Amino acid sequence: MISLEATGLFTSAQLKTLSRLKVRDVRDLLYYLPRKYIDRSQTLNLRNSQHGDFVTVVGRIVHNELRFAGRKRLTVKIDTNGFIVYATFFNAGAYLQKTLKVGSEIACWGKLEVFRGRLSFMHPEWELLTDEFFSSTAPRTTHTGRIVPIYRITEAMRNSFLTVKVLREKIDTTLKRYESRIIDYLPQEITKKASLLSTQDALHKVHFPETLEETEEARKRLAFDELVIFSVLTEEKKNAVRKIQKGFSLRVTEEIRREMDSVVRGLPFKLTHDQEIAVDTLLKNSTAPYPVNHLLMGDVGSGKTLVALLLALFYMRHQLQVAYLAPTEILARQHYQTFLNILPKGGFEGVELILGKEAAKEKRAKLDRLARGESYLAIGTHALIQNEVSFHNLSLLIIDEQHRFGVEQREKLRGKGTNPDLLSMTATPIPRTLTLAYYGDLEPIFLRKKPKSRIKIDTRIFPERDLDRIYKAVRKYILQGRQAYIIYPVIDGGEDEEGNATIASLMNEYATLEKKIFPDLRLGLLHGRLASDEKDRAMQKFKEGLIQVLVSTTVVEVGIDVPNANVIVVRNPERFGLSQLHQLRGRVGRGNHQSFCILVAPERLTTDGEARLQAMVKSDDGFELAEIDFKLRGAGEITGVRQSGVSEFRIADLRTHGALMEMAVDFLHSHPEIHARFAAMKNIKQALEKGLVLFAN
Ligand code: ADP
Ligand code: MG
Repeated sequence: MISLEATGLFTSAQLKTLSRLKVRDVRDLLYYLPRKYIDRSQTLNLRNSQHGDFVTVVGRIVHNELRFAGRKRLTVKIDTNGFIVYATFFNAGAYLQKTLKVGSEIACWGKLEVFRGRLSFMHPEWELLTDEFFSSTAPRTTHTGRIVPIYRITEAMRNSFLTVKVLREKIDTTLKRYESRIIDYLPQEITKKASLLSTQDALHKVHFPETLEETEEARKRLAFDELVIFSVLTEEKKNAVRKIQKGFSLRVTEEIRREMDSVVRGLPFKLTHDQEIAVDTLLKNSTAPYPVNHLLMGDVGSGKTLVALLLALFYMRHQLQVAYLAPTEILARQHYQTFLNILPKGGFEGVELILGKEAAKEKRAKLDRLARGESYLAIGTHALIQNEVSFHNLSLLIIDEQHRFGVEQREKLRGKGTNPDLLSMTATPIPRTLTLAYYGDLEPIFLRKKPKSRIKIDTRIFPERDLDRIYKAVRKYILQGRQAYIIYPVIDGGEDEEGNATIASLMNEYATLEKKIFPDLRLGLLHGRLASDEKDRAMQKFKEGLIQVLVSTTVVEVGIDVPNANVIVVRNPERFGLSQLHQLRGRVGRGNHQSFCILVAPERLTTDGEARLQAMVKSDDGFELAEIDFKLRGAGEITGVRQSGVSEFRIADLRTHGALMEMAVDFLHSHPEIHARFAAMKNIKQALEKGLVLFAN
């Protein structure tokens, strides 16, 4: 690497400032990318300009004057084709006055303002022009007559005289000097075939493009490098895991097969094809000698629980322990019950339900059985993560609704075993490019098709003025014996400064619902500010049919299974992400009744909001909706990505570079020699953070 000091281009103060910004060598400098570009390819005729315009002018300095009244002020008078404009510099000294001498040709760029009654630039960027500039047919310099890069300049940089202009010059010089020494790891036939720029071209054009399109191409190439390195690191992480011995081994024996088959035959339904494949794949992969990490993605209602429980049974039959982590008590209970249900009558000893609050004596007994290895399955909430819980040979971790748990929580639970396997589950499908990027070290397993018996949920958008009609419809279904959800985006508030409601809030409307709209029905209230046992009680009552209309916020979103509910009304649905709306919708349509999702939207929606609601009506495929949401709102909004520990990429934007990510992965697969070369590079991690430039000696 060529240090910046060795270039001799910077003062020691500048080197110090840059070093603090982690710009220490030529690579860092070349990767100090413009934050934007300004098109100065056209110099303007001043006659058509007015104050407020950003313009570039070229002219001759006809006068300059340094004044010391109050603040030091240098005023330079410029004649541009007979039209006069001033450039004013405060706190400028005699040195600048000497530089901008009368008779010089100058290019100035900045915002035109009226200062002391005269059309002026205040502290413009400027450049003195040489004869060469004028004799050229397409006059241009580093700073004018072209698209120029604008860099982020910090206070410290300014203090050491590193302005945009100075930096631009230094980068220009650096490029000119070192460009020819940059080597591209991509052979030409590949860059050509994939229409990627070479490294040299990309770095050149990202700073000094001919057109704005070129900056896109340049960034695409740099993004490709970023994604290639990222993929190498992901693959290496996987390889490192493969070197770990997991200390237990699993075998798919005849006996186990027979038991699984009999469990499956005992179910009131047939496994979907996807479920069968998922179970087979999971069993097969689990026999590996190293820990396996799976991400089971399946839309709401696709039947993930059953897949997880069958896998659990497989481990339990090897006398190995399994922990099944659920985000709420209700879900933990539900899974516990499901597990007991699927087992042959007579039951199975050794399943423990571990919840927060329990009688001390009972809990102690459960924990002892787990610690001694007498129980094989612990289903529970966060309580499972507590220090008091220990295992004898924890070998599989199942995490339901994985986005509800942080990485540390998962790792803490994982630490209770010795290199256990992991099955993470999510009902929020993650777009393919994101799984490659953020979950590259997890093996994805998909449940794409839902059980056939499901009737498509009828989704409709209604304006708020139709609320009375909507309530009538809800009442009709309740009187038929069904149950309903009404969902609000916020608990309370939702008013503007004048106190007018802008979004519907649960607290504002609950009393009306209870006293005026449904006085004869049994309503229940559920929101995040309730204590967790209150929440559980409300959900439990709803499950048992004691509550007919559950009025709630999105806390209801996670996994609750009430087949009798067939209507969900969502207020201000434009406030929710698509995946979230889809999750909410998944609360209904779980039984044999035609179900309805009613989106009550305000009259005026943003185009984005409108597009999202229309997508809900058109699609009932969570995978498709996740892709649409990703395109509309970006990765940050996809649940789970933020917690994955990887921040956004420096250059790549997966919304536009999705195909590029796949290209990078494919490229590495077909060029193992390049993978190996990067993997062997000592500071490959650094290349991800700082960019990749290889120099020939
Ligand atoms: P999720 O993937 O959202 O966690 P669940 O595992 O809670 O879904 O399953 C939703 C419902 O579908 C449950 O009532 C479950 O018993 C049922 N179910 C699971 N698999 C099937 C299947 N193959 N056919 C019919 N119903 C199924
Ligand atoms: Mg579930």
